[in-house]
Formats: sequence, C-alpha cells, structure tokens
Amino acid sequence: MTVLLIGASRGIGYELGRQYREEGRRVVATARDERGLARLGELGCEAVPLDVTEAASAAGFGWRIDGERFEVVVYCAGLYGPRTAALEPPSMHDFDLVMHANVLGAMRILPVLQGLLAQRAKVAVLSSVMGSIGGRTGTSGWLYRASKAALNSVLKDVSLVLGPQGAVCVALHPGWVATDMGGPSAPLTPERSAADLRALLARLGPQDNGRFLNHDGSAIPW
Ligand code: NDP
Repeated sequence: MTVLLIGASRGIGYELGRQYREEGRRVVATARDERGLARLGELGCEAVPLDVTEAASAAGFGWRIDGERFEVVVYCAGLYGPRTAALEPPSMHDFDLVMHANVLGAMRILPVLQGLLAQRAKVAVLSSVMGSIGGRTGTSGWLYRASKAALNSVLKDVSLVLGPQGAVCVALHPGWVATDMGGPSAPLTPERSAADLRALLARLGPQDNGRFLNHDGSAIPW
C-alpha cells in the first residue's frame, strides 16, 4: 500500500508518516524546505519537495508522482493565520496566505491525483470542526474558519468526481491536537490523533464518500 501525505514536515502529517512507516507502508510525503525533507527521509519516507502555494512547485510535484498508485492520500498542509474574532477584516496579505495554503493548494493538488488512485482509494483533507457552518458556536479565527468551510466545499466537489471512479473522499477533523498549530493545551497528542485517523481511513467504505467526519468517525454538520 502506498500512502501520500501532503504537508508532512511536522505536526499531524509527520506523525501520520511515522505511523504508516512503522506499519511497513510505503510513504510518499511532501515538505516545502530542506529541513522538512530531511526529517521525512529519516522516517524512511520518499520525501518530495512541494510548496502548495507555488504553481511551479505543484507542477513539478505532479511530474514526480506520475505513474504512482496511491491507496491513501491525506492533504495535511494548513495555516491558521491571525487569531482575530469575527468582523475584524483580515489584511489581503493574511487572506492570501491562509486561503492559498488551505484552499488553493488543495484545488491544485487534488486534481493531480486523477488517474493515480488505486481502486477504493481513500482521499482525505484535514479540515476542522471550525469550518462547520451548521454546527458553529464560536467566532474566533474567522479567516481560518472561512478557509476550512471553503476547503470542505472543494472536498465535496472532489468526492462527486472521484467517488464514481471508485475513491472514497472525506473531510476529516483531527481533533484539537497539541502541535505547533493546536498549542500545548490541546487535549489530544499527535500520536492519538494520527492513530484515530489511520483507523478511520482503514474502515471507510463507499457509503462514506463526501462526508465530513470527526477523528472518532462521528459525523460533523457541514
Ligand atoms: P502544524 O502547524 O503543526 O503543521 C502544518 C503543516 O502544514 C506543516 O507541515 C507545514 O509545513 C505545512 N504547510 C503549511 N503551509 C504549507 C505550504 N504552503 N505548502 C506545503 N506545506 C505547508 O499543523 P497541524 O499538524 O496541527 O495541522 C495539520 C492540519 O490539520 C492543518 O490543515 C490544520 O488546519 C488541521 N487541523 C489541526 C488541528 C489542531 O488542533 N492541531 C485542529 C483541526 C484541524 P512547514 O513546516 O513547511 O511550515
């Protein structure tokens, strides 16, 4: 089984890589700088350079993975951006940074996978419960929330195209995880979150295509 992890230099993506390698899987994993690539290489991953915000980098990545057959793909790359409450307009700079990494990157990379997926491949984006509109209670980090709601829309379209071709495509909330993004007070370790995500991905079936799921497998309102 070959696993593809997009944005795996640290955090949840890195831990997924570590655990899939421990399971004996072949892992192709991306990072955007030498340090990240070296860390992934030490895990025994095939480390591929990719900055999802750079069109040329995405094109090179597409060329690099041509001919592969992935069974699991997880888009992990993400940025939180400014921790502002609703109604504080973000700068265009912050808007571009967050939307490019979280949304445009996925719109660039997920299409490259067409023709490179094994039958019944699992394709996941790491979204967030913060992107849920139906279940929304808080308003902090509204730029991040908007980006994850947009990412969910992207995933839904991907599921409508790749689902009929045999893939199972889902948006996943990894839990609140103690990474650089989640901070030290988060209740879940990266180890626990990644283990939950791997178990969930393994048990997904065709009926799950196009769903938005928590790491424990429960449904989250769009
Ligand atoms: P981290 O901040 O620890 O890691 C983010 C990863 O994304 C890094 O590997 C980073 O690479 C990569 N990345 C960022 N921008 C780009 C880019 N332009 N091109 C390629 N890679 C990029 O975050 P987490 O591991 O905590 O989060 C992983 C995903 O899970 C994110 O999408 C996040 O939104 C989501 N999530 C996390 C939660 C949490 O509590 N931690 C909760 C809900 C969702 P680099 O090292 O080069 O910066």
